[in-house]
Amino acid sequence: MAVFGIFGTKTERVASSAYYGLYALQHRGQASAGIVVNDDGVFHAYKDSGLVNEVFSHRILDSLGVGQIALGNVRYGTAATKERVNAEPMLVNHIKGKLAISHDGALVNYGELRRELELGGAIFHTANDVEVIAYMITKARLVTGSIEEAVAKAMERLDGGYSMLVMSPQKLIAARDKNGVHPLCYGIRDDGEYVIASESCALDVVGASFVREVEPGEVVVFAKEGVKSLRVNGESKERLCVFEYLYTARPDSVICGCSVHLARKRAGAFLAKAHPVEADVVIGAPDSGIDAAIGYAEESGIPYGLGLIKNKYIGRTFIDPGQNVREDKVKIKLNPIPETVKGKRVILVDDSIVRGTTCVRVVKLLRDAGAKEIHIRSSAPEFLNPCYYGTDIGSRAELIACKYNAKEMAKLFGADSVGFLPLADVTKLGISGNCKGYCKACFDGEYPTEIPTEPEINKYDFKISENKN
Ligand code: AMP
Repeated sequence: MAVFGIFGTKTERVASSAYYGLYALQHRGQASAGIVVNDDGVFHAYKDSGLVNEVFSHRILDSLGVGQIALGNVRYGTAATKERVNAEPMLVNHIKGKLAISHDGALVNYGELRRELELGGAIFHTANDVEVIAYMITKARLVTGSIEEAVAKAMERLDGGYSMLVMSPQKLIAARDKNGVHPLCYGIRDDGEYVIASESCALDVVGASFVREVEPGEVVVFAKEGVKSLRVNGESKERLCVFEYLYTARPDSVICGCSVHLARKRAGAFLAKAHPVEADVVIGAPDSGIDAAIGYAEESGIPYGLGLIKNKYIGRTFIDPGQNVREDKVKIKLNPIPETVKGKRVILVDDSIVRGTTCVRVVKLLRDAGAKEIHIRSSAPEFLNPCYYGTDIGSRAELIACKYNAKEMAKLFGADSVGFLPLADVTKLGISGNCKGYCKACFDGEYPTEIPTEPEINKYDFKISENKN
């Protein structure tokens, strides 16, 4: 999931800037996209299921009109929340005024807060955390003097890993949970417009230069009077999701002062030190294994080669040929280059092994293309625990590392060996930056918050049939 926002004074291009910002953040969510434009307090919104360029046509962007402030969202749908009704930003009409809210991440106390709100008379339309966030903010607004204070007060009760943007008729507010699990930063354009985004690559796209990150437990307010900052009550501790460096973020983003590309190359280098093997070529699983493969090759001295090509146009709209069709489903997505691997001892670097399904398929592809040996190296350690902060790492029953060790996995995949990044190296990936601490709970089980004990989210899911047109 990702958020994007823009705060200007008299700009007419907020909708198109939001579009390009979200386009740059598409890798963080492909289920739905939405933009809300604020023209002197009048909100124009559009959101739907689909990729950014499927949801927004020229006509729809034009219909959003001109404005001074805008915010947007791309989100991925977990099995429980992929329905269209969960698309963001969420629009709220409240006695104290209108709001639009966009978030990235997840609450761990969603069930508890939702039940509390429902027992107080609230009704819900979605299975999305953002609706609970909206209620908590509007409740807090009844006892605070400003929307930013309401956001900060609501956050005292919102437990989890989330970044969010809240737009009121006059202001744009950016906030990050007290552990700073997911990234959020802002920049400024030459014309003085502020741009806020989940990742810095989205600032680059709209010509904004990076100013700084929103800190854990911080609420930053963009208003006509300028920019100001509030702190959420209670202790804040940085616990950045280390998987942002390994998989989630784009390599051209900078998080906590460290380039994601360099962090991934470093992971590859650590991997080469921890699990060396004699081989002829190092290849990366596209796209997120490439940077680590380059790092592995540089450290080991084994040449890097282009071994697998991914079709760039595979997306949500991929039409599965089904079992009765002859087309090779795997090859539609991924095809090997035999010239790189034939007769060679190949090291295949992937960013992670979650369920193990990718490894089984890729090993077969490489064997069919003539690879003599295949050594799989994962630039993430073994996944042993689910993620409750919005990364799609499922239950332990789905995680292959909970059932098998590296040797057993190699056998299952038909590979010659499997090696994982040692856990101790994970906190060194961002070493050239300024991150003070990481969440690596999916690897070591040390969660920075309480973990959910409340009813499953999908208990609340809605199935609404709507005609897209
Ligand atoms: P698996 O096939 O289940 O072992 O998943 C590993 C592959 O999925 C890797 O190639 C990753 O690039 C990709 N991956 C890792 N984490 C996620 C995630 N949270 N959501 C979607 N894909 C992922």
